[in-house]
Amino acid sequence: MPAFDAVVVGAGAAGLFCAGLAGQRGLKVLLIDHGERIAEKIRISGGGRANFTNRDLDVRAPQRHFIGDNPHFCRSALSRYTPQQFIELVQRHGIAFHEKHKGQLFCDGSSQQIIDMLLAECAAGGVAHWQPCSVGEIAFSDGGGYRIETSRGSVQTSKLVIATGGLSIPQIGASDFGYRLAAQFGLRVVAPRPALVPLTFGGEAWSPYAELAGLALPVQIETGAKKDRTVFLEDLLFTHRGLSGPAVLQISSYWQPGAPLTIDFAPGVDVRASLGEAKQRSRKRIGNELAGLVPARLADAWVGQDAALQRPINEAADRALAALAERIARWQITPSGTEGYKKAEVTAGGVDTRELSSQTMESKQRGLYFIGEVVDVTGWLGGYNFQWAWASAHACAHAL
Ligand SMILES: Cc1cc2nc3c(=O)[nH]c(=O)nc-3n(C[C@H](O)[C@H](O)[C@H](O)COP(=O)(O)OP(=O)(O)OC[C@H]3O[C@@H](n4cnc5c(N)ncnc54)[C@H](O)[C@@H]3O)c2cc1C
Repeated sequence: MPAFDAVVVGAGAAGLFCAGLAGQRGLKVLLIDHGERIAEKIRISGGGRANFTNRDLDVRAPQRHFIGDNPHFCRSALSRYTPQQFIELVQRHGIAFHEKHKGQLFCDGSSQQIIDMLLAECAAGGVAHWQPCSVGEIAFSDGGGYRIETSRGSVQTSKLVIATGGLSIPQIGASDFGYRLAAQFGLRVVAPRPALVPLTFGGEAWSPYAELAGLALPVQIETGAKKDRTVFLEDLLFTHRGLSGPAVLQISSYWQPGAPLTIDFAPGVDVRASLGEAKQRSRKRIGNELAGLVPARLADAWVGQDAALQRPINEAADRALAALAERIARWQITPSGTEGYKKAEVTAGGVDTRELSSQTMESKQRGLYFIGEVVDVTGWLGGYNFQWAWASAHACAHAL
């Protein structure tokens, strides 16, 4: 039976990076993936250009951009492997990139460049690849360590790294392997749920807004109260079934089923004062005046729902204008659900961080490590999830 110093299961962002680093540190490493093609999520990420990290990540307080039952768990790895270090690697490989928005870095060319870079790092470390190769039973081996049954035969190792990611996008190879393995070895798992996901709004109440599908605009969006209140200022997109766009993807990670969202469609504008002022000077219809503050399609949809608003603004009751302003600036709506794993960019929840060392990613089960998205650490939209994959892989590779 072949034996390796380390076996990494999952050749996505975290697995490839970890295998390459460990190989370059002199370990004999095997990387296994069940997919025909590896790193599919890197390939489709960032619209095909991979938003591979984020410059705004605060290495002294990285938890600001991450969620999980213990938000502080991610600090150690993220402060020891920073966006700057990954940028230097990208530069060493001659990959051109640019900053798009709020610190988000994308390849100028294609995300395939990041995959090729990771494969080159693996080649430099002499990493063996078994792929496509499915993994069956994993058990303690007689000589210590782990015996792994695979479709290419059995293999033995003293260090087993699980980098099989979350449940998002099952059609490109996502599986619950990591959670099942954690449970097999008695490790707790925080219930997984789709995150960075479009939200849906079922039923009749949504029908006036369904015709806004395709409309995008900047909004302020919030959910939760008091210390749980979370706010994002980003673009929102109306879809046929609900809401999407960066604002909604971000808030979805914090949204609790049954809780309302509050949306300000004209952030930074005093809609009530603007409509009051228009009433004094204008005879235009309310919808036309409102269209100076928000996109015309949105103004039409709002005004169209109330006969009292379909008149010149100088004839409108102050009360009706105040109610309209309130709906524009503080629209409350409760999602019926999410678009689920087939549209979610990530899976929140995962292997409970209380079971792992934040220094090494080793679990309480000696020699068994978990890295990347399979762990209960979920980043904001904008390159934070890849940075977690790189940083957790780095922490693990240096501990193997
Ligand atoms: C559409 C989309 C766009 C995204 N864009 C971005 C972005 O621009 N920036 C960003 O930071 N994040 C982005 N993400 C999130 C990011 O892709 C993930 O957080 C990241 O890939 C997680 O890395 P990972 O290595 O933990 O898991 P993955 O990259 O998902 O890799 C897991 C690997 O494990 C393999 N595997 C799974 N089960 C098994 C099994 N049973 N046996 C063997 N192998 C198995 C899979 O085939 C896969 O290759 C995006 C996600 C999606 C879905």
